[in-house]
Formats: sequence, structure tokens, C-alpha cells
Amino acid sequence: MTAIRKDIVGAAYNRVYTLIDTTIYDTLDKRHEFKTKTILVDESLTNDEKLEVIKYLNIDYDNFKILNNKGIKRICENCQDECLATLYCEYCVRNYLKMNFSNWTSGNGDIDDLIQKCQLETLRPNMIVEWIPYNNLQNIKYLTKGGCSEIYTATWIGGGYYEWNSKEKQLKRYGNQYIVLKKLENVESANRNWFEEGKSHLTISNKYGDIVPCYDDDDVYNNSNFHSEEQDDLEISNGNIFKNI
Ligand SMILES: [Zn+2]
Repeated sequence: MTAIRKDIVGAAYNRVYTLIDTTIYDTLDKRHEFKTKTILVDESLTNDEKLEVIKYLNIDYDNFKILNNKGIKRICENCQDECLATLYCEYCVRNYLKMNFSNWTSGNGDIDDLIQKCQLETLRPNMIVEWIPYNNLQNIKYLTKGGCSEIYTATWIGGGYYEWNSKEKQLKRYGNQYIVLKKLENVESANRNWFEEGKSHLTISNKYGDIVPCYDDDDVYNNSNFHSEEQDDLEISNGNIFKNI
């Protein structure tokens, strides 16, 4: 297997988005088919590179379908429900998280309820809000003081969820991740505003990727930066994907 040229792969991925004529390819499914076929005949790519681009186009396809709640559905071979995602089943992911409710607690009923609600509305396996026990954090180091709190860095043992393994019927984690923590002051005496703010944050970030991270000394929510606006047929090239390849 020859080495995959990341710059060529990235360029082909971005190029295919610019080639779409939305008057001809007027659905998510038609556009995905066009993108895949275009990559398959792209002579600037090796076969491995074609597969690499298609891998990311498939992830995009699921994201667009799930975020827009549109597209061709399929019957999940595991739960027999009619799901939208192709690389996972959104219902199997939610059921898996539900089965694990009894295996964790924040110690606060309101927070548990909120996290459980977010998990039951999970759209993507790499965007799951969860409770992280303090002992799953290592190498906690003071970084700086922000506008209203102290900021720390740490290693999250095991890291966040990132994909659904259909064979094993379970979510897989990234492995250890370097993260930033924010220590909230006087949480014990915080009024409902603090909770409501956290609730809005989690509700929005449950749907959209890339929200400003929100962590504290005892808990870590799996979020990222606000990235996209809700619109009909949300479908934009996701540059973030290429941070990881
Ligand atoms: Zn399923």
C-alpha cells in the first residue's frame, strides 16, 4: 500500500463539493452518489486515496442526513428500526447509551436527567454528551485564568466516543485525549441560572458540532465549536475532518 498523500486527498475532497450542480443533484442522496462517482474516476488519486476520500464523504453523508432529518432510510439489521445513518444506527446508539444509564451518575439528579435526555436525543456517535468521573482525568495542570474561571489541561483516559461498531454493537472511544478543563467557581451555591446555561449549551451542542468547550473540575462534557447554522439541506464541506488525517 502506497502512502496516502493527505494534501491530494484533501484537495480532491474539497474539489468534489465545488463540482455539484444542485439543480441537477437536488437531493442529499443524489449529491452523495455524484460525489462518490466523481472520486472513483478521479485520475489524480490512487485507489487507496479514493477510498480515503469516500470514507470521509460517507461520514459527511450521514451527518447531512441526520442533521437535516432527510434522505433514504434503511432497516437496521440489529434493531430492525428504520434509521437514516448508514455507518451506524441512531436508534442502536441511543439504546446502547440508555442501557448504560445505571453505570454512571454525577451525584446530582438534575445533571443526570439532563445528560440522559441529551443521550436519548443523540444524533451522531462522535457528539455524545456524557459524564466523566474525575478519576478518568490525569495530568491535570493549571494553564491560565480566564475571564471568570481557572483553566486547566488534562488527559482524558479513554477519550470520547467516536464511532459505532456494528459487529460488536457498541460505541468505540478515541483513546486518550488531551483536553482543556474549566473550573467553575462556587458551583455548590450556584443558582438555577448556572444550570439553565449548562442546559442550553448541552442542548445546542447535542445537535451541532464545535461548540465552545464547557468543562469543570468534576465533569467534562463532550463538546466542540459552534460550526454550522441550521438551514434547509445543510450540506457544507466539513474542513474539520481533515484535522485528523
Ligand atoms: Zn438499530
